[in-house]
Amino acid sequence: MELEIIEQTDQTLQFIVKDISIEMVNALRRIMVGWVPSMAVDEVIILKNDSPLYDEILAHRIGLIPFTTDLDAYNLPEDCECGGFGCPLCQVSTTCEVMNDSKNNLVIYSGDLKTNDPKIVPVNPNIPIVKIGSGESLIFEAYAVLGRPNEHVKWQSVSNAFYRYLPIIEFDSSKCKNCPDKCIVSRMCPENLYEYTDGKKSPELVEEYWKTCTLCRSCESNCPETAIKVDYEDKAFIFTIESDGVLPFDVILRKTFDIFLAKIDEAFEKLESAEIQE
Ligand SMILES: [Zn+2]
Repeated sequence: MELEIIEQTDQTLQFIVKDISIEMVNALRRIMVGWVPSMAVDEVIILKNDSPLYDEILAHRIGLIPFTTDLDAYNLPEDCECGGFGCPLCQVSTTCEVMNDSKNNLVIYSGDLKTNDPKIVPVNPNIPIVKIGSGESLIFEAYAVLGRPNEHVKWQSVSNAFYRYLPIIEFDSSKCKNCPDKCIVSRMCPENLYEYTDGKKSPELVEEYWKTCTLCRSCESNCPETAIKVDYEDKAFIFTIESDGVLPFDVILRKTFDIFLAKIDEAFEKLESAEIQE
């Protein structure tokens, strides 16, 4: 398997993965979306709530705040020595105590949550939780734990993960002789992948067409001279991961492969202990 990164920002990672079957690449996507754990609040103790929101709605909003996650320092509650009861190895405590002494309304943000571990904090401090009026206050304690996204979406470690085939377009411009200026193909491509350079009668395919080509085949089906052939590589995919920043991309990828290998081991163990009739 080959892996080549083509774009990386804080929120997006895009890479080409080669020599891999579609079943395998989809298994990796499903593990990423459903099994890679992250940190989120799972228990809220509300001590004072003067806000217009019910406690339950407030707890729900707090639960959906994404937290930076350290997978090496914390255990999943079910795997922890405490048996999931709650201990410093599986739980981060956070508090919020805001009193509005001003004469105006006050918005309480995710940044007002103080955690007992500086590595586990809200990814973005500007997520609004609730607005309170003058003289009102909000005091609560909350406990964040690791969880898997297939249990609840608040534990998702990737916002989205998807892949598409790697396009291959063969364009024989020598067949364009009989076509009028501004051929229909260059006008119809929704991604504008055919460009005219000065003085040339026929368009040219842009260099990195595969990055944006959606394999719609409108060029191939509309070219009157059959100058274009659209295909895709069978075992190569452009894979995109979008993240809200709970985990770095390298950790997401490593954890995905760890889980994948553990699942294969588990399948073999079950197969060995199963009694299969001949
Ligand atoms: Zn524990």
